[in-house]
Amino acid sequence: MTRLLVIGPPGSGKGTQAVRIARAFQVPAISTGDIFRANVSEGTELGLQAKQYMDTGAYVPDELTNALVLDRLAQPDIAEGFLLDGFPRTVTQVGTLDAFLSARGLSLDTVIQLVVEHEEVVRRLLLRAAEQGRSDDTEDVIRHRLDVYEHQTEPLVALYAERGLLVPVDALGPVDSVAARIFVALGRDDTVAAV
Ligand code: AMP
Repeated sequence: MTRLLVIGPPGSGKGTQAVRIARAFQVPAISTGDIFRANVSEGTELGLQAKQYMDTGAYVPDELTNALVLDRLAQPDIAEGFLLDGFPRTVTQVGTLDAFLSARGLSLDTVIQLVVEHEEVVRRLLLRAAEQGRSDDTEDVIRHRLDVYEHQTEPLVALYAERGLLVPVDALGPVDSVAARIFVALGRDDTVAAV
């Protein structure tokens, strides 16, 4: 069983790498951003609520996000483990995940931190905005998202480092190189060829 988190600023390639890591470890990748976006495009009540926050680069409130994740973690496929992409992002969310795990006698194996300079992140996100037209990828919103990340999520890096779970990986460079670095850092360099 493998229980992993991927943490990193917006534009660090979290989503892309999360899918690869999950495939290599044969666990479901759970992306809160993807779940929110799917709800927005389906026009669900949750989507309507989440959209107003996402569009400004703010975090969706913890109560909504925690409920969404707990609901997802109640699905049977997580019996084999999971990879969480983009959750937890606040200290309160860490508490929710901790409580979920400890109630089941479970723990996390590793927290993969994607390390990238913020100016590089802005550059990448502007590029993605041009390519995909995401409504939360304008420059103002990008800067706000980074600011929110610094204040609310960066403290989690120290927290998981203290717990001895943090594995920082340089996220600069081609997707394949970053993936290879991640697998080496996880002691699974043999998996690269398989993904
Ligand atoms: P992402 O695709 O992971 O960058 O997420 C896109 C947006 O979804 C974020 O900017 C937030 O508005 C929202 N979001 C995703 N995950 C979370 C979370 N764990 N807590 C609060 N908001 C989130």
